[in-house]
Amino acid sequence: MAQRRLIAGNWKLNGTSADLGEVQAIARAAADHDGVDVALCLPATLLARATAAVPGFAIGGQDVHLAASGAHTGCISAAMLLDAGATLTIVGHSERRHDQHETDADVRANAASALAAGLNVILCVGESETVRSSGDAVAHVSAQLDASLPDAPADPSRLSIAYEPIWAIGTGKVASVSDIAEMHFALRARLVAAFGELGQNMRLLYGGSVKASNAPEIFAVPNVDGALVGGASLTAADFVPIVEAAP
Ligand code: PEP
Repeated sequence: MAQRRLIAGNWKLNGTSADLGEVQAIARAAADHDGVDVALCLPATLLARATAAVPGFAIGGQDVHLAASGAHTGCISAAMLLDAGATLTIVGHSERRHDQHETDADVRANAASALAAGLNVILCVGESETVRSSGDAVAHVSAQLDASLPDAPADPSRLSIAYEPIWAIGTGKVASVSDIAEMHFALRARLVAAFGELGQNMRLLYGGSVKASNAPEIFAVPNVDGALVGGASLTAADFVPIVEAAP
């Protein structure tokens, strides 16, 4: 295993101040599991209140714009995330790539901007169902990673890669253990080719319908260093057992 495991939640377009109690409950449970890194990536509107409510717990954004400021309506910069108390951000989530037409080059630039500003980054890659059915998933995702990777930070724990098969996100379908193993082995090789020893120590997360019931077998797969969790991160009742399943 490369590093301490990282279990990160992605709340997507969910959460208002009424949900801050869940953030607090998750942060309390995370403090009891100090061998595992835990983070929640929240809607921008909740960041400042969440970071004030759970000092010291890792709160992140769900995307970042490459520019520091300017005419980019609706976007958020790394400096804004930091100002709200965030310590990390997701980049390149498949929903951003699809809905906002973000390209690999955009993802690479956004990741570089976040790292340069001092945020940790979770960079997402993953294939569609069509690509998976065609048998080209490993080549496709490897190429996507190569094209999306920023320069390596000196500390490898600052950049994590999340392999998230698009067809497994929010669908209840989970990639098979052998498919996860094959993909994570290939992605580890790409990281090592790009960064040498640093790539050996970057965390590779799996994402796509992770739940307490399937987390133990996913965490047992070689080169799986944690999880990016959507739906099951919205409540402490669902999320904490996933954290507890991390060895
Ligand atoms: C995600 O959005 O990154 C994700 C993995 O979602 P879910 O766990 O709901 O499939």
